[in-house]
Amino acid sequence: MLPVIVVQGGAGTVPSERSEKSKAGVCAAVRAGFAILRSGGSSMDAVVEAVTKLENDPNFNAGCGSVLTTSGNVEMDAIVMDGKTLASGAVSAVRNIANPVQLARLVMDKTSHNFLTAHGANEFARAMGVPEVPQESLITEYSRMRWRKNLAPDANPVECQMGKMGTVGAVAVDAEGNVACATSTGGILNKMEGRVGDTPCIGCGGYADNQVGAVSTTGHGEAIMKVTLARLILFHMEQGLSAEAASDLGLDYMKSRVHGLAGVVTVDPQGHWAARFSSLQMAWAAAQKDTLHYGLYAGEHFTKGIDEP
Ligand code: ASP
Repeated sequence: MLPVIVVQGGAGTVPSERSEKSKAGVCAAVRAGFAILRSGGSSMDAVVEAVTKLENDPNFNAGCGSVLTTSGNVEMDAIVMDGKTLASGAVSAVRNIANPVQLARLVMDKTSHNFLTAHGANEFARAMGVPEVPQESLITEYSRMRWRKNLAPDANPVECQMGKMGTVGAVAVDAEGNVACATSTGGILNKMEGRVGDTPCIGCGGYADNQVGAVSTTGHGEAIMKVTLARLILFHMEQGLSAEAASDLGLDYMKSRVHGLAGVVTVDPQGHWAARFSSLQMAWAAAQKDTLHYGLYAGEHFTKGIDEP
């Protein structure tokens, strides 16, 4: 069963003209992460690699392709967590960084803190020699178009985003049974400047514990935070539920209790995995034993050889 990696490319509805690109994106990311696991690499290296790939793919709402704030800026959030030590690193509201997930990892590896925000996170990036990129390089035509549309007084950005989300994340278990998670996002469409969502908050956007498993979440951040979705799912797994049943129970609770839609990828330390969502769609892919699994709609599950094009 080991190693295994599962990635998600955002809960919502993928417009039909983007669905092939979304599927191709998550498959490429899962392959990149699995290559690390297959050569004996750690689950942490694998999830950071997979999420970096998705941040660099303009079809997803993370890194290049991030949604914009009301003022038209890109402010990004990310988290990583290591299930062996429970070490975690997070950044929020960072600007001009191509790969916030790598900055979150530096927070974990190089500071005594768990979480840096905004100006301080950007200062830290500079001190670490992380290159700054022009904001324009993170903005796509598509994100600018959606931003403009949602400036209208009668717009509903949350509903519109549930129409087209694209946060990214990954969970993995390496050959030694260590679990890890990583999640990265541009946040929610036309959010206020300084808004921090669920993604960088421990237990909300992700959680990893070798004794239980790992989860990476996507969906309406304000709702996810109310139910601490990632930790809630792991709690259900601690009570004996499978990764799949625990994910469904957490998502159902979030829907009935706070009327929020979301999606998750979940693993347990033995390598059982799940990709579940209450939104209409979520692009996801998993790699295990040289088989690539992927899908977009509920109930959709394609497989092919990991090295098959
Ligand atoms: N959870 C993210 C946020 O609220 C958005 C998403 O998953 O698409 O920031």
